[in-house]
Amino acid sequence: MNLNQLVNDTAFESFKRRNDKTTTRPDNGFYDLGIAPSLIKDINRLNFENPTPVQKESIPAGIHGDDIIVIAQTGSGKTMAYGIPMLQRLSKSKRGTGLVLVPTRELAIQVEEAIQSYSRSINIRSAVLIGGASMILQLKALKKNPRIIIATPGRLMDHLERKTVNLNDVEIFILDEADRMLDMGFVPDIKKIMKSIPDNRQTMLFSATMPKEIEAIAGKLMANPTRIEIDRSGATPAEVSHEMFFIKNQDKGRLLAVQLQQCSGPVLVFTRTKRMASKLTAKVKRMGYAAAEIHSNRSQGQRRHAMEGFKRGRYQILIATDIAARGIDVSGIELVVNYDMPANSEDYVHRIGRTGRAGKIGHAVSFANTDQRGSIISLERFMKTKLTISALPTLPSEKLLLREAGRVNLKKEPSRDEDPSKRKFSKYRSLKRKNFKKSGSKKRLMKRIKTKQKDLREKGRSDSVRRQTIRANGAEIQDKVN
Ligand code: AMP
Repeated sequence: MNLNQLVNDTAFESFKRRNDKTTTRPDNGFYDLGIAPSLIKDINRLNFENPTPVQKESIPAGIHGDDIIVIAQTGSGKTMAYGIPMLQRLSKSKRGTGLVLVPTRELAIQVEEAIQSYSRSINIRSAVLIGGASMILQLKALKKNPRIIIATPGRLMDHLERKTVNLNDVEIFILDEADRMLDMGFVPDIKKIMKSIPDNRQTMLFSATMPKEIEAIAGKLMANPTRIEIDRSGATPAEVSHEMFFIKNQDKGRLLAVQLQQCSGPVLVFTRTKRMASKLTAKVKRMGYAAAEIHSNRSQGQRRHAMEGFKRGRYQILIATDIAARGIDVSGIELVVNYDMPANSEDYVHRIGRTGRAGKIGHAVSFANTDQRGSIISLERFMKTKLTISALPTLPSEKLLLREAGRVNLKKEPSRDEDPSKRKFSKYRSLKRKNFKKSGSKKRLMKRIKTKQKDLREKGRSDSVRRQTIRANGAEIQDKVN
């Protein structure tokens, strides 16, 4: 059944009429979709004037209770497209759970934040079950009977095996970024999870691309789903311009420096390996930028810190492996740099989807080797777009870059001295560093530190003796004057 048929569906019309008498704001682009007034109020608070195309199509179908498969580009407002129907359904009764399965931890956190932002008035409890986070806290959250569970497949499987979560009550199941799940090898876990969910649930599957394997899974998951295709599979946002440079590996750092110099907003840089992400972060920091890294060698705490810092503008540059390609929703990312080309065309689409979100302008720059021409041609075929190949600009020398960083001193990360929480330790640390260079062994280092500390204490004592003498002399002189 397509959407036009759906609109003609009489049951749906009567459902809409029932809701329309309570949604009283005809000036709001959302009022027409059958959304309950309390949720409209929360949407208004976000200052979203109109639904995005994916919301326009998916919200009425989702509220109607249909199973849907939605193909829409990243950053098109997918979270609200499934979040609103799920909240509306759950708010109608005191029972029933919504399960949202996402491929990455970052995306899970982000989805929870988004859902919270438009469910303030209905007050529905949620829990996030992701790897790398405290199991104890997750157990506590589960004990409070959350109505929405947002999870990554691995951690949800852990909970299922320990019998710490019960999915018998799931009424609405959402599979977000389904193609990414496939890439990350989550399909077996998803199949197991499916067995724990009642058959008569509503299922909504969202994906930016629709590989054949996902079509097959969708066929098993849903009976007679409504297919909503906002963009053809593989489309990237029209607002993003693409540029490509052919460059040798050893020159990439300097080309990145040129690109960064032209930006004042947030920049997301993708590398192929975790090692390269770390190395490049150090390099970018040396260039004088506030930068953070995010990849699977970082702890969950470090990943969260990096993401938060990037969102709040503490870090202008975020360097990531593909783990972050789907999870990042930072408004106004000015530039996405493919420092290394992605492994496949789908990943290119997802990486690029981090800029040009919600109709904003974005730019994507890719660094490729000449032997990658073949994969670029297949990428162009996949996106049905020709990529602009630019001539290399004059690249600055490494020395000049470092000198520039020192001279300009812009966008520098706050130093330890500027950060009051770290200031009290800096004296000890510099002492430790200085002595370590001289001594070389840990034992000798500790000895030197103790001697130095004793010297400092004694110096303090002798200073106070000197101060007392001066004070006494002063009093004596004063006596004489009087
Ligand atoms: P998503 O695709 O759900 O990750 O959303 C991408 C971005 O679009 C997020 O920052 C949302 O807050 C924003 N967004 C979602 N819906 C709308 C809307 N109707 N109008 C403007 N921005 C929106």
